Amino acid sequence: MNDEKKKPISNCINCGMCNANCPTLKATSNELCGPRGRALMINNNTEDKSFYICTLCKACEHSCPLNLEMDFRKVRDKLEKTEANEKMIQNIRKYGNPFGELNEGEVPEDLYCC
Ligand code: SF4
Ligand code: SF4
Repeated sequence: MNDEKKKPISNCINCGMCNANCPTLKATSNELCGPRGRALMINNNTEDKSFYICTLCKACEHSCPLNLEMDFRKVRDKLEKTEANEKMIQNIRKYGNPFGELNEGEVPEDLYCC
C-alpha cells in the first residue's frame, strides 16, 4: 500500500488502471459504473446514481498509479442532500412520518418518493 498522501481526483489522467478490479464495473460492463467513469463524472460535475451501487471497497484506490483519493462516499452523501430528503428527515424526526403533521384521515399535500 502507498502511504504517500492521497491526491485529489482532479488529477485523474483517465488511464483506466483503476477499472481492473472494480466489482461494479465487472457486474455491469458499463464504464460509468466503474471508477474511471465515476472520476470523470466528479470532474465534470455530472455525478449520478452510479455512485449508489459503488460498494466503497476502494479496490480502485489501491490500483491507481497516481495515488488519487477515490472517496465516493462523499459523493453519495452529496447526492442524498436534496431539499425533499432533508424535509422528509425533519418530518420523521418531528412527527414520526415523512409527510409532516397530519390529522386522522388527512391526505398529505406533499408526497415524497426517491
Ligand atoms: S487509475 Fe487513477 S489516474 Fe487512472 S483513471 Fe483511475 S483514477 Fe484516474
Ligand atoms: S470503491 Fe466503488 S468504484 Fe472503486 S473498485 Fe470499489 S466498487 Fe469500484
